[in-house]
Amino acid sequence: MCDEQVISNFYGRAVKAGPRVIPEKCQKQPAIVRLGKRKWRCARCQSWLSEKENKLPSGEIYCSNCITLGRLTSADTLYTIPEPNHFAQSPQPVLAWTGQLSNLQQKCSTQMLKAVQAEHDFLLWAVTGAGKTEITFASLAWALEKQWRIAFVTPRIDVCNELYPRLQQAFPTVSILLQHGQAQIPYQYRQLTVCTVQQLLHFVKAFDLIIIDEVDAYPFVNNRLLHQAVRRARKATGVTCQLTATPPAKLVRAFRRDANKELAILPLRFHQQPLPQLTIKVCSTTPAILAGQTQRYVWWMNTIARWVQAGYPFLVFVAVVEQLEMIYRYIKHHLTTSSIRGTTVHAGDPFRVQKVAAFRNREYTFLVTTTILERGVTFSNLQVLILAADARHFTATTLIQIAGRVGRKSAAPTGEVLAVCRQYTWALKRARREIAFLNRQGKNLVTK
Ligand SMILES: [Zn+2]
Repeated sequence: MCDEQVISNFYGRAVKAGPRVIPEKCQKQPAIVRLGKRKWRCARCQSWLSEKENKLPSGEIYCSNCITLGRLTSADTLYTIPEPNHFAQSPQPVLAWTGQLSNLQQKCSTQMLKAVQAEHDFLLWAVTGAGKTEITFASLAWALEKQWRIAFVTPRIDVCNELYPRLQQAFPTVSILLQHGQAQIPYQYRQLTVCTVQQLLHFVKAFDLIIIDEVDAYPFVNNRLLHQAVRRARKATGVTCQLTATPPAKLVRAFRRDANKELAILPLRFHQQPLPQLTIKVCSTTPAILAGQTQRYVWWMNTIARWVQAGYPFLVFVAVVEQLEMIYRYIKHHLTTSSIRGTTVHAGDPFRVQKVAAFRNREYTFLVTTTILERGVTFSNLQVLILAADARHFTATTLIQIAGRVGRKSAAPTGEVLAVCRQYTWALKRARREIAFLNRQGKNLVTK
């Protein structure tokens, strides 16, 4: 006999049973399926596996592509119970959020709700700082009251961690599960799951609604395995809603062409001010500074000095980790006020979270950073300098996201984004063009 909690572990998921009792009504399938003479396929991530590369000393085949979710071998079995939507009814209305949407947010929120009700896929293209999460609340509330099972996913763990408490506050009577590689919470069957896209690989036809935030962020963008995971985790009748500030052109085209897909554009931030545009300046000395070949004073130090004098915090973006220390020392060397504190930060930095928190608390005036801080960080009065903006690391998407860090607070809705390069790249041009497009759209809405 199995208790309800053990059984619910298998609802809409394909997982190993472990040492616990396997419910009788489970569907079974081998974790690694043999298809052809030397070809195998992983039932969890659908990757093709070769016998040569994936054979264990014991003779079993294992999948190396989804090993971070726990190793699967050809000796394992995956168990599933079709999703029954078996949730306790939460007291209605489920939405406790009492904030006010702007007119434009409200319009997008209504458009999204209509799409979800019609079971149409939806794409929300909303500029950075537009308040995307709140726009989803009406649709979430409707779907929760309809007893739908929902996943709110994003490629980034920090976005998950930020989303989870906000959703808990907005829907206090709904049981919500947070799942990602670093969350030490055991899996539980819940109506609303907040997780990274990778976690969807555990699910099969589970969700009636999947909301994906930051669809264009690493590692989701261009990742076939993860896109497949979304399709597989969704019910055949399910709806996918994608949220992004910088959608790939291909995605926008696909949504514009298809009558069964809805696209909403929100070109204005919640404070109704336009996005800060990139100022692009050419400088031939900067590459030598980045390479540590000269300490010669360059004109963009004047800009930094002006920010320092005004008391503004600022971020300096560089393309690669090796340039961080060089630029940090260069700026410190030329700053006339020695009391100005700054530091460097990058993805592999063990003190990254603490440093960003210290910057937010104004303990640091500046951070020299790689593109790791392109998303998900909001600081008041922030100014931005991008060095070697023509490096291939600065794609149009990255540049738009970086510009989007500036002017996010209604008390300080503007700021400078200075991009220093040796030559204009296609990415720089596209970023400027897209920001100009959104600002034009926004202006039309304001003057209407
Ligand atoms: Zn796999």
